[in-house]
Amino acid sequence: MSKRPSTPIYSSEVYLMACKQFDRAADAISLPEHLRDRVKHPRRAVVVSLPIRRDDGTVALFEGYRVQHNLSTGPAKGGIRFHPDVTLGEVAALAMWMSWKTALVGLPYGGAKGGVIVDPAQLSEAELERLARRYMRELLPFIGPQVDVPAPDVGTNERMMGWMVDTYSDHVGHLAPACITGKPLSLGGSQGRREATGAGVAYLIARYLEDMRVPMAEATVAIQGFGNVGGEAALALVRRGARVVAISDFTGGYFNAGGIDVAKALACVASTRSLAAFDGGEPITNEQLLTLDCTVLVPAALERVITPEIAPRLRCRLLAEAANGPTTFAADRWLEENRPDLEIIPDVLCNAGGVIVSYFEWIQNLENYYWTRDEVLEKLFRQLEQAREAVERQRAKYKFSRRLAAQTLGIQRVADAKAARGLYP
Ligand code: NAD
Repeated sequence: MSKRPSTPIYSSEVYLMACKQFDRAADAISLPEHLRDRVKHPRRAVVVSLPIRRDDGTVALFEGYRVQHNLSTGPAKGGIRFHPDVTLGEVAALAMWMSWKTALVGLPYGGAKGGVIVDPAQLSEAELERLARRYMRELLPFIGPQVDVPAPDVGTNERMMGWMVDTYSDHVGHLAPACITGKPLSLGGSQGRREATGAGVAYLIARYLEDMRVPMAEATVAIQGFGNVGGEAALALVRRGARVVAISDFTGGYFNAGGIDVAKALACVASTRSLAAFDGGEPITNEQLLTLDCTVLVPAALERVITPEIAPRLRCRLLAEAANGPTTFAADRWLEENRPDLEIIPDVLCNAGGVIVSYFEWIQNLENYYWTRDEVLEKLFRQLEQAREAVERQRAKYKFSRRLAAQTLGIQRVADAKAARGLYP
């Protein structure tokens, strides 16, 4: 076990959860004591005050963070979250998971995450633009194509990445698209980036259902969260022949045994920003959705929704963790011991499609040479498949759960790089 206690600035349930996962994985691979603290603790955290002018002329101040967990294996990489419940500890946990994820899928990156405490729905478009630009402005010394490359996450999108690229570019004096990924195509975004995370989730679900000998046409799917990841995963799964029977967002859930009309639900969100007006299913609670009798459950919203109370009531056969950290440490241990029949695709593998195509976008920006959507998706699935096979080999070799296999692979690679670099001076 790592001896150095975690610094209290990160103190939060979700950071504790990421640390517990790390400690367990480090024990499982007997990670040398002298490396543990270096690999586990975030390299640096930046806290910024973000004053913006409201449309009514008043000034409002928001707080933002960027945690760079690992910079030893390449530029830091990770999304920016705009959400009222963001904490420094949550951002640190998400940054830690980014480190294991980029290492697991073999990307030349470290891990980072950013966040701003704000409910974007309470701001006008112009206010949101000022806040996104101010966030980038404050972080300028810590961002850059070879330093840290942010991307969208919960509450942020392509448009906001466009404003951030513009702000960064203004300051360096030329268009610098490689400073951020998930941008609009017109600013050097990649074909396939918008759908990458959801398409990757659907690809992995299809591969695991094959192993389970469940035909796609017989699979029913429930998805919690209908934003970028959940919405695109739903679309990709329907295209692959599955039946999406339930979806949800912060307004609640919607169930339709005959299959949700995903295109209609997406159109509803595009025009009204939520599913509140969706009339294609009967209302259910998020708890009912999580415990639905279905083939595949896809949490695609926030962390820690599968708790020790929910875990014994899960009725799915495959749990595909599209969100980061949806299953608490205790719930995960309970499932490992009591539900050997339940297949889990852990977050660091399941949602890695997003960062893989972000990497493709960064390469295209650096080379100024752009790929077609087919090329992007083909390379994406190949890279996900390699990561999946590596996880399955690690699992078979050490008799680990799939989560432990994925995390130990990522952690070992970061540890190897730190050991090889040595300590300076
Ligand atoms: P998003 O903001 O586009 O969508 C989030 C969705 O979750 C929205 O539909 C929102 O209404 C819903 N939601 C919020 N609170 C909820 C609740 N209590 N119950 C049910 N639904 C709720 O965010 P996103 O980019 O789709 O990210 C979703 C998850 O996927 C996050 O965990 C994120 O870290 C992870 N992720 C995102 C990407 C990416 O490329 N965007 C990549 C990897 C992982």
